[in-house]
Amino acid sequence: MINFNIPPFTGKEPEYMAQAIQNHKISGDGEFTKRCNRWIEDRTGTAKALLTTSCTHATEMAALLADIKPGDEVIMPSYTFVSTADAFVLRGATAVFVDIRPDTMNINETLIEDAITEKTRAIVPVHYAGVSCEMDTIMDIANRHNLIVVEDAAQGVMASYKGKALGTIGDYGCFSFHETKNYSMGEGGCLLIRNPENAEKAEIIREKGTNRSKFFRGEIDKYTWVEAGSSYLPSDMNAAYLWAQLEIADEIYADRMRTWEHYYEALTPLKEAGRIELPVIPEGCVHNAHMFYIKAKDLEERSALITFLKSHEISSVFHYIPLHGAPAGQKYGRFHGEDRYTTKESERLVRLPLYYGLEPEKVQTVCEKITEFYSR
Ligand SMILES: *Cc1c(COP(=O)(O)O)cnc(C)c1O
Repeated sequence: MINFNIPPFTGKEPEYMAQAIQNHKISGDGEFTKRCNRWIEDRTGTAKALLTTSCTHATEMAALLADIKPGDEVIMPSYTFVSTADAFVLRGATAVFVDIRPDTMNINETLIEDAITEKTRAIVPVHYAGVSCEMDTIMDIANRHNLIVVEDAAQGVMASYKGKALGTIGDYGCFSFHETKNYSMGEGGCLLIRNPENAEKAEIIREKGTNRSKFFRGEIDKYTWVEAGSSYLPSDMNAAYLWAQLEIADEIYADRMRTWEHYYEALTPLKEAGRIELPVIPEGCVHNAHMFYIKAKDLEERSALITFLKSHEISSVFHYIPLHGAPAGQKYGRFHGEDRYTTKESERLVRLPLYYGLEPEKVQTVCEKITEFYSR
């Protein structure tokens, strides 16, 4: 069986987790959490990185920091994971869905401005497959309309747009270290904060609304409740697990990229024959090989392909069912404009096996079976 995903594992995780335990500091903000935060700050250039219990929680923190209130509207794509909407809907906001671009499956930046009303407070671009949204246009719209930008960069760790790391362009960026992502701590994430002025409030929200972080740094002599907050700190054991992977992040990146390029090259003849479509990486975008997908002609052909691959012991999977058609999407959101591509393109997309350590022979087998499917 060729699995769709095997969570990344480097071999060093047990040793680092044992160290965290021996330090008698497995609660939040221990040595490994600090190392991970610093690594993310150094590698991305963000002013502040705070490890969280998930990307969902990082997005919830961003919604709290942005002071999203009932009745506010937040613009986002419908083709995304539920967390993108949940974080804002929990604050009482309405999710306003805008159509995607068929080439990248990202929010169509040219449709955003038309969806803005006097209630709009934020834009949430989702960098699908680690390929950046058109951020210059999005930031320009946000600046002109005084809107906050929260990047859902769950899939975008180690990817960039015009030389800037994803997650560092908007006011806030959210990473995921879930086991389905390129770097994992089981469950976990990170909030990236562009403006250092927002860092203190973020620390407070993450520490149950207290200024405990300042207290631990010796900046104040007792801590107190100063804001409405919650608990978003991961255990240092999970951070130790992640550290083993961040330490060799470039190697994991290169390994995934080899698989991605292999797929791209081996499947190009089918693309040129007009049978399938391959991912598009716009100029200025450096992706991170988070995902390799192809697009079949339609839903029916996709289902047949998935079944065919399964019969040859290859696991391939489709992805998001657009949020606007889901029960909660109808309750908490609305689609602005026409759904030209969101539903149609999502029904054609199928993701191929891709994980750290996937053997080239297996990649070759997948490509051969897809080619066989299309030559029947
Ligand atoms: C994985 C993912 C999330 C959620 O990440 P968690 O760390 O599991 O909370 C959110 N948005 C997108 C686009 C994702 O791919």
